[in-house]
Amino acid sequence: MRIDLHTHSTASDGTDTPAELVRHAAAAGLDVVALTDHDTTRGHAEAVAALPEGLTLVTGAEISCALDGVSMHLLAYLFDPAEPELLRERELLRDDRVPRAQAMVGRLRELGVPIAWDQVARIAGDGSVGRPHIATALVELGVVPTVSDAFTPEWIADGGRAHIVKHELDPFTAVRLVKAAGGVAVFAHPAAAKRGRTVPEQAIGELAAAGLDGIEVDHMDHDRPARERLRGLARDLGLLTTGSSDYHGSRKEVGLGEYTTDPEIYGEITRRATGAFPVPGAGGSRA
Ligand code: AMP
Ligand code: FE
Ligand code: FE
Ligand code: ZN
Repeated sequence: MRIDLHTHSTASDGTDTPAELVRHAAAAGLDVVALTDHDTTRGHAEAVAALPEGLTLVTGAEISCALDGVSMHLLAYLFDPAEPELLRERELLRDDRVPRAQAMVGRLRELGVPIAWDQVARIAGDGSVGRPHIATALVELGVVPTVSDAFTPEWIADGGRAHIVKHELDPFTAVRLVKAAGGVAVFAHPAAAKRGRTVPEQAIGELAAAGLDGIEVDHMDHDRPARERLRGLARDLGLLTTGSSDYHGSRKEVGLGEYTTDPEIYGEITRRATGAFPVPGAGGSRA
């Protein structure tokens, strides 16, 4: 069983439509894929409708959080998408992204970059708008050669010249809301230091005590020592450990299924979830 529990589509900052994403997941030999767009479940219906036989979809989202000013991402799986409190928070997080991205465009214009909001809006389409869309605009304008080259202090990295913070949820609140909606909560790439500051290990312990289910360990942004450290921490705290690609289509180099989650852990996630069930592709799962 090959299981990838973290991917993005055009519903946020990925480049595959949800339908393309599930087709690519099947072609990559995956048995299970989770669609976890930033602060939205908008891609789920299209992914379900296009789900190939033999592939199971885990519905999810990656919730934008911050603890003491440090951004962090919480993966939420198999929650009830209609649960009103979490639905409301997703709306607030998603809606705030628009004025924030517009303000970042303003900063870039002040820095002499001829970027326009229309351009960013076209790139984002109806997806939840984020820095990767602005980065794509900067590539189109020839300001930087690649999307990741925009994530520097000169441009839009955390604390960079044109970076503006977005509305983010307190992770203790987020864990509570995800659990209350019947979901399973996994801290995404907790040691991704190259993206900016990371939360201290003590806070992971506190989140575990508050109901966090697991941490993402096998991720491209974690080097081997970081993975070993996180695995030890998870053992001490009784947390599940996952692995996933965090696929963003052509906006990142990682491929679907490049990192995967152990089937036993996947089984435990599905046992804990009460808000939604994994969706087997038409004709039933190979699993
Ligand atoms: P935002 O949610 O708008 O703050 O943008 C954060 C997103 O930018 C993340 O979900 C990643 O997809 C992307 N990102 C963050 N850091 C980097 C980086 N160093 N290189 C490329 N993409 C990045
Ligand atoms: Fe992203
Ligand atoms: Fe993330
Ligand atoms: Zn992600």
